[in-house]
Amino acid sequence: MNVAPLILLLGSNQGESQVLLKNARALLEEALGEIKIVSSIYRTKAWGKTNQPDFLNQVVVIPYTGHAVSALDLVLEIEHKLGRTRTVKWGERTMDIDILYYGNQICQTARLTLPHPALHIRRFALVPLCEILPDFIHPVFNKTQVQLLDECPDHLEVIKLL
Ligand code: AMP
Repeated sequence: MNVAPLILLLGSNQGESQVLLKNARALLEEALGEIKIVSSIYRTKAWGKTNQPDFLNQVVVIPYTGHAVSALDLVLEIEHKLGRTRTVKWGERTMDIDILYYGNQICQTARLTLPHPALHIRRFALVPLCEILPDFIHPVFNKTQVQLLDECPDHLEVIKLL
């Protein structure tokens, strides 16, 4: 049985975001396994579509043995349970969960791209990653999270909340 770290980015900018993050962590533990590492919560200006409330973001790490697509299905179910409805691309959401990495797996299918294709251009992913996994190597770019953050073109403010 191969265990690899499933590294997830949680984000919320609608509803009681701190409570929603807590509920998401509880549901993830139920569905996928114990969260071994958790970052601080960060407040981030909305990316892509900027006329909406700030996001709260947090990265969590769960050692996982299942298929990446099974993890995606479980994560989408949790988004749904927490009230996520997909309307506007990059619009407000109660809970968004992205799979940033699954160990060093690389895949590109219609449903899932690993590592997440935008993580290296988003400070709100890289700042929490640098807090908890600064030396983790991106398997495509062969760079650490710290190097990726150094080179990141995004300058949106990411503020540590708690
Ligand atoms: P969004 O809600 O805008 O983040 O998009 C979610 C959709 O992106 C999902 O339904 C997935 O099929 C697809 N997707 C592709 N790669 C990933 C990934 N690494 N993590 C999460 N969703 C992904």
